[in-house]
Amino acid sequence: MAINIDTVYKQFGALKVVNGVSVDIKDGEFFVMLGPSGCGKTTTLRMVAGLELPTAGRISIDGADMTYAEPRHRDIAMAFQDYGLYPNMTVFKNIEFPLKIRKLDVRERARKVEDTAEKLGLGELLQRKPSQLSGGQRQRVSLARALVRNPKVFLMDEPLSNLDAKLRAVMRTEIKKLVTNLGITTIYVTHDQIEAMAMADRIAVMSRGNMVQVASPLEIYDRPKTRFVAEFIGSPP
Ligand code: ADP
Repeated sequence: MAINIDTVYKQFGALKVVNGVSVDIKDGEFFVMLGPSGCGKTTTLRMVAGLELPTAGRISIDGADMTYAEPRHRDIAMAFQDYGLYPNMTVFKNIEFPLKIRKLDVRERARKVEDTAEKLGLGELLQRKPSQLSGGQRQRVSLARALVRNPKVFLMDEPLSNLDAKLRAVMRTEIKKLVTNLGITTIYVTHDQIEAMAMADRIAVMSRGNMVQVASPLEIYDRPKTRFVAEFIGSPP
């Protein structure tokens, strides 16, 4: 589904965090918001999810105005860096949880869990507890739980920042492949330039609540629009 962000502002008291962001994210696009800590990436993502409400502006998903819609009325899944797994539940139960609270039929649930687990290489691990998994496996369970409902939009906030460099590189490729295969519109937040370059169809480079440049990785690297973008991306002078 396409996501349209139209002149969105967010203030916390006197603090202006998002300053009139406008962007059209295409159906099936892998869109990365890249910028230094505190530039408003997470807040923008949370407004798309409905976890924060804009001070002004409009957010639509697939043409429908969702600016003030409850999160559960948006067909969205989210994944974060702290996996948020339930330690006492098996991998199966963890992945099944979002289906259970939506009261899906038991057999339908099992089918979806097994299907999603298979796609993420977790087929053999369904009876384990999170404590018996590696960091990468826990990350995959968290992705499986987010994706088991077949959401149309997938939001990720620094999902790899707790992993070591080697695993991060592997997961980067896996996530990209997975969401591309599923065809889900994805917004991915990171402060890591290499991650953004490797994964994005388009990158929005953010600074102080603005999207300074929105373009393909190559274009941003070759033709940075401002000195800030050039320095942040590390383009050759
Ligand atoms: P980023 O994801 O780019 O690091 P954030 O969107 O998390 O940036 O935060 C941008 C700014 O907004 C920061 O200065 C942060 O402290 C502030 N901020 C975020 N959430 C809140 C909140 N709920 N209340 C007050 N200030 C907040």
